[in-house]
Amino acid sequence: MKLSSPEAYLDSLKDLERDVFVLGERCSCTVEHPMIRPSANAVSESYDIGEEPEAEDLLFTTSHLTGRKISRFTHIHQGTEDLVDKVLMQRMLGRRTATCFQRCVGMDGFNALYSVTYECDQAHGTGYHGRLKDYLEWVQDENVVVEGAMTDVKGDRSLRPGEQPDPDVFVHIVERVPGGIVVRGAKAHQTGALNSHEILVMPTTAMREGEEDFAVSFAIPADSKGITFVLGRQPSDTRKMEGGPLDVGNPGYGSQEALVIFEDVFVPEERVFMCGEVDQSGKVVERFASFHRQSYGGCKVGVGDVIIGAAQLAAEYQGAARASHVRDKITEMIHLNETLFCCGIACSSRGHEMPAGNWDVDALLANICKLNVTRFPFEIARLLQDIAGGLVVTMPSEKDFANPETAAYLEKYLKGVEGVPTLDRMKIMKFIENMTVGCGAAAYLTESIHGAGSPQAQRIMISRLADIGEKVALAKKIAGIE
Ligand code: SF4
Ligand code: FE
Repeated sequence: MKLSSPEAYLDSLKDLERDVFVLGERCSCTVEHPMIRPSANAVSESYDIGEEPEAEDLLFTTSHLTGRKISRFTHIHQGTEDLVDKVLMQRMLGRRTATCFQRCVGMDGFNALYSVTYECDQAHGTGYHGRLKDYLEWVQDENVVVEGAMTDVKGDRSLRPGEQPDPDVFVHIVERVPGGIVVRGAKAHQTGALNSHEILVMPTTAMREGEEDFAVSFAIPADSKGITFVLGRQPSDTRKMEGGPLDVGNPGYGSQEALVIFEDVFVPEERVFMCGEVDQSGKVVERFASFHRQSYGGCKVGVGDVIIGAAQLAAEYQGAARASHVRDKITEMIHLNETLFCCGIACSSRGHEMPAGNWDVDALLANICKLNVTRFPFEIARLLQDIAGGLVVTMPSEKDFANPETAAYLEKYLKGVEGVPTLDRMKIMKFIENMTVGCGAAAYLTESIHGAGSPQAQRIMISRLADIGEKVALAKKIAGIE
């Protein structure tokens, strides 16, 4: 693996020459930008062997293509053990960072495309599967970060891609030229876009006949000509530019989303994995969604572990930890968090082999997992705020703790139990603020509801995948109905 340390990864981002805009200004080096750096730090944890005894086996594995050691983030799952290890890895990184570490979308994209390109070649005589494997081999050896790009901006939701007044609201092929294609459009909410070396584009929905130009999948370097990135804002994000760590709450890590615009971008043929095969596009969406809905049963649970720890600390620091209602609430938080983990493990353990030889999760259980993720983190966050109290949003700033005119007052009047420095109590309060109403809430809450598809998308899949007719037959048999 060429990139083999967090430092090497962070350094490599400096080589990308991209059109990036942050707060209305061009940004030439994203990794040095104080609003972006914490999100790059979170991705860099995927390169760090860390302190956990199981980390090496979770973060790295063996390529089925080359037999060489690779990052699990570039791996094609070869059995249920791989699927379970993926979830364990995500929980581990969630615990380390308390945020979205962004690298899973590309991994889930590869795994979806791996089986679909194989089936597309069988159905249409295309040569996408071999191309994808060549690309994967390169990604694995270089150990680059690949952003998975699925969500189109979509314009008027009541209109199909081909019916939009502006066709560019769905990424599409504008020209087929010798040696490749030219594409235009934009992908929204692109997790980790500014921390990625490559972009793997997939269709956003199942395309129909007549929508061939929209049934397109490809990979390109993030600094290809014609791509523009505009960073999305998060609540209290500019606190990262104020200099002090306290008010940020989670100063080391963060997440990041961007709008990624493709303005007549040339994609060479060898990086095109779908080009007009409308019957294959829906499969990419469904399989990718299932993998990413599985992912949430790992990453959000890891973040939940940190949150539960913060609730316990906040209670201890103010002398409330022994109150029975506080203990009950923390038990409830654990129950909800581990329920999500059960879902992540269940859909992995019940995975199955695909015709291409890779392994997919159980799609019904993965959708159940994600639908629970659209609810439980909100309840966990509510309980966290309940335990922590109003100081979460009324606490003075770090600068007031530094000002000699106010510091002694804050030390005296914001103190909790004896033996705990006031500043430690404030640190955990600011962390709780970050996770429930600040930047961290973007990753823990908003992403939980909309990432990998909004709740309605899971409901549709659940009603389609659950065999209701079979359940009716069971009830009839038990009740003696002919
Ligand atoms: Fe990975 Fe979770 Fe972030 Fe998705 S939301 S990229 S699964 S950490
Ligand atoms: Fe996500």
